[in-house]
Amino acid sequence: MRVPLIAGNWKMNTTVSEAIALIGEMRSGLDKIDRVEKVVCPPFISLAAVGEAIKGSSIRLGAQNMYFESRGTYTGEISPLMLVELCQFVIIGHSERRQYFNESGEIINKKVRAAIKAGLKPILCIGEKLEENEAGQTEAVVTEQLESALVGVGDLSGLVIAYEPVWAIGTGKAATGEQANETISLIRRSMANLYHKEAARSLLILYGGSVTADNIAEFIKQPEIDGALVGGASLNADQFLSIVRQTAKIKG
Ligand code: PEP
Repeated sequence: MRVPLIAGNWKMNTTVSEAIALIGEMRSGLDKIDRVEKVVCPPFISLAAVGEAIKGSSIRLGAQNMYFESRGTYTGEISPLMLVELCQFVIIGHSERRQYFNESGEIINKKVRAAIKAGLKPILCIGEKLEENEAGQTEAVVTEQLESALVGVGDLSGLVIAYEPVWAIGTGKAATGEQANETISLIRRSMANLYHKEAARSLLILYGGSVTADNIAEFIKQPEIDGALVGGASLNADQFLSIVRQTAKIKG
């Protein structure tokens, strides 16, 4: 019922020419894999070039962030209206944005609403910090993040949630499959309470945090995990291809 999704978050890596080279290494391999939605999220300045390079393929494109206004005097910002001509997905509320750019629940909510309004599919990132995890606050934290991000959001179609425990991002210390599955089923239950059971059942929920070709199977085997948001390993064509191939084999 839920088509698995693997998204690569290239973060602030790759120049335009490096981005073209990287997608060139992956394009034909990724295109051959079906039964999995494949998304790459390069930096803003490479969206157009990567979009050109994947034209006619089954690979989809995402941005890593956006501003919530459509246009105006916001020097340096990129709007949903601009993105919708270039890509289909947009990552919103990544923990690095929350941490380094002070994005609050209120700002993230504005971005989620603006993305949906523009016709983009938000990949909404939520997850607890190490100290919150150790204090047994995971459920409270992710529920609060969900509730604040989704104020005024009525229609969940197109929304993707990525559960990314902050302590697992870029640390090489991934959660276990069981841990991630447990929190993701809790997120699905919260969504059923906030919306309704059917909407929650068809919602895609990904795991993110130090996913590699060596551990992807552990996550994908779990019933509640619908795919992964992959950072570091998405910058290596062989790793990313292996992650997508294993996902197709297990879940597709
Ligand atoms: C991410 O950036 O969303 C992420 C999960 O990074 P990494 O895979 O490098 O931990």
